[in-house]
Amino acid sequence: LMRMTRKLIEIRSILLSIDQSDSLKLPSIVVIGSQSSGKSSVLEAIVGHEFLPKGNNMVTRRPIELTLIHTPRKSGLDAEEYGEFPALGLGKITNFSQIQQTLTDLNLAVPASEAVSNDPIDLRIYSPYVPDLTLIDLPGYVQIASMDQPETLKEKVAALCDRYIREPNIILAVCAADVDLANSPALRASRKVDPLGLRTIGVVTKMDLVQPEQGVSILSNNRYPLHLGYVGVVCKPSKKNSQESPRTVARRGEDSYFGSHKDYFGSSSSLMVGTETLRRRLMEVLESSMASSLHGITNAVQLELEEATYQFKVQFNDRRISAESYVAETVDSLKARFRDFTSQFTKPHIRAKLKAMLDEKSMDVLEQLYWSDKRSEELTALATDVKVKPETVDSYWRYKLDAASSLLTKSGVGRDSTILVADGLRSLMETIASGEPFNYHPRAAERLIQFSHMILRDRIGVASDQVENCIKPYKYEIEVDAREWEDGRVNAIELSEREIQMCEGKLKEIKKRVGGGRYLNRLIAYVKLLEDQETDKKRLRRSQDEDAQDDAPNPLIDNYRYNPAHVLDARHAMLYSDRLSILKLRAAALKSKRCKGGPQNDVFCPEAFLNVVSTKLAYTAAMFINIELLDQFFYQFPREIDSRLIYDQDRNEILEFARENPVIRKHLDLQERKDKLEEVMKQLQSLSHFRKDSQPAPRRQ
Ligand code: GDP
Repeated sequence: LMRMTRKLIEIRSILLSIDQSDSLKLPSIVVIGSQSSGKSSVLEAIVGHEFLPKGNNMVTRRPIELTLIHTPRKSGLDAEEYGEFPALGLGKITNFSQIQQTLTDLNLAVPASEAVSNDPIDLRIYSPYVPDLTLIDLPGYVQIASMDQPETLKEKVAALCDRYIREPNIILAVCAADVDLANSPALRASRKVDPLGLRTIGVVTKMDLVQPEQGVSILSNNRYPLHLGYVGVVCKPSKKNSQESPRTVARRGEDSYFGSHKDYFGSSSSLMVGTETLRRRLMEVLESSMASSLHGITNAVQLELEEATYQFKVQFNDRRISAESYVAETVDSLKARFRDFTSQFTKPHIRAKLKAMLDEKSMDVLEQLYWSDKRSEELTALATDVKVKPETVDSYWRYKLDAASSLLTKSGVGRDSTILVADGLRSLMETIASGEPFNYHPRAAERLIQFSHMILRDRIGVASDQVENCIKPYKYEIEVDAREWEDGRVNAIELSEREIQMCEGKLKEIKKRVGGGRYLNRLIAYVKLLEDQETDKKRLRRSQDEDAQDDAPNPLIDNYRYNPAHVLDARHAMLYSDRLSILKLRAAALKSKRCKGGPQNDVFCPEAFLNVVSTKLAYTAAMFINIELLDQFFYQFPREIDSRLIYDQDRNEILEFARENPVIRKHLDLQERKDKLEEVMKQLQSLSHFRKDSQPAPRRQ
């Protein structure tokens, strides 16, 4: 039967790790008693070591799940006895005062305001001198609350104990012999949940403090009969021999007390006395209780296992995973996504992006130098006049073209184009980092961003210098052949037409907003009037004294007739229509024979010329950005993923990482639950032949 208890204790702790639901619980012995009833002394006598927190006000504040594991004695060697806190990962602790210190620390870590915590401390003790037992030590019932304890402490302790003394647990009710059993909070609590006393053992401590007659009467179990009986013990610590173990102490105390009252407590008396008897009794009771739980628990585990197996099939199609496999998959898919995305960064793509950026710049240059130049109509007229030769054109236009070209080539193409591509990479990384599954892994996403930025930072300077260097010749001279010219001309027409459409769109919008073309025309007339008046005023001011005629109202201008927002719209509309007429002229010029005539006509067609320049710049920039930035990034990034993202983490970090993903967490949890239930089921089945032998513990009176 011994082996069974042991197995079941193991099974019990596996079940506890699966979940805390009552249906999957195997019995444990729960130790309750009021403060100072001698609870700690009894537990220490059973374990054979002083290990529980002592001292003023050092009441137990958290339940201690104490698992005793009997280890075989190694002949010739000093018996190895040690404790372990599995949750803390401190390893074997052979020094019991260290265990005591750890328990004290854990207790003190419970905030004073909370006083007690429901969160149990898991402590295992391995020794050849302990029986296989599970005991749960609970905070002692508070009888007289001391000044510095919170009001609610009493209720909190009682509520905590109530949770633990439920079925199927066995209640070890500790009462001091010198206190009337009627006043024992432990017995009172146990009677509430176990009125017939079927699963309660009474432990009467401090037997040495009462007369033997009285002791006999308590133990003979008549006043508050318990099915499992009462055991009397003496665990008085002897101050003189503080080196001795509690077991020795108890034995000496008990030998001297029970020994000197053999007539009352001798073997013929059938009373249960002594720590040894208590230990044996606890083993018997736990064994038989476990045995009688065996059937029920087997059924419950079977049901849970079936459910878990079903869910595993339905939800995850029986696919097994591990944290490591998840990490490996994540890395693979990250690299695959990265590769997919890099197809957006081929040379033609980059060239097109840079070209668009440079076209934008050349439009700005054209606006600045040509469209807002009052003489640009003149240029268009020159272009259509067949008599004019390019060499004879006013040098004004030659200078203008040179200025436009250098504005473009000296606009910081190296920096701007490198930054443009780097920004593209950055937003690509952001897309990856914010998408599945990195939305679940904020820290990994952060790292991803960090090291991509690091690579970019490293390369941006070099790449932009390199580009700037390589476009340097274009700052001095640009040779254009006929093909390039024709392409540039066609592109320039396209761009102007796009600009024309944009202006027309804006005008249409304004018309709609102010309520029709006619009204817009009235507004425009009004604005012109305003402008004329302004210029008149200025002229007047210059010629006359400032105070003269200043506020004379103009009868034509009525300040309240128009909505100010509409007036602003009208001003914009004027700008757009001016721009439109220039653009239309220019588009016509670009389509003219003159412009079609080839690069020697560049001075008449600056749009075409600048387009050729921006193509050349884009081509060169793309080439060097590709070498200095993209190639480097695409080479380095996957290596950073390998070396920094995940693989430098230890097993726990990998587990933590995997569990950040809720789907994976659910998968792992269910898989683990199923595995554990299977394991438990296997162990339970191997025990099933014990079931036939199991019988309730014999009644002892
Ligand atoms: P707990 O508060 O219920 O854990 O009680 P303790 O085990 O700390 O014991 C309370 C007090 O009772 C301590 O001063 C112990 O020395 C004393 N005590 C415990 N067991 C016995 C015993 O069998 N006989 C006597 N005389 N005193 C005991």
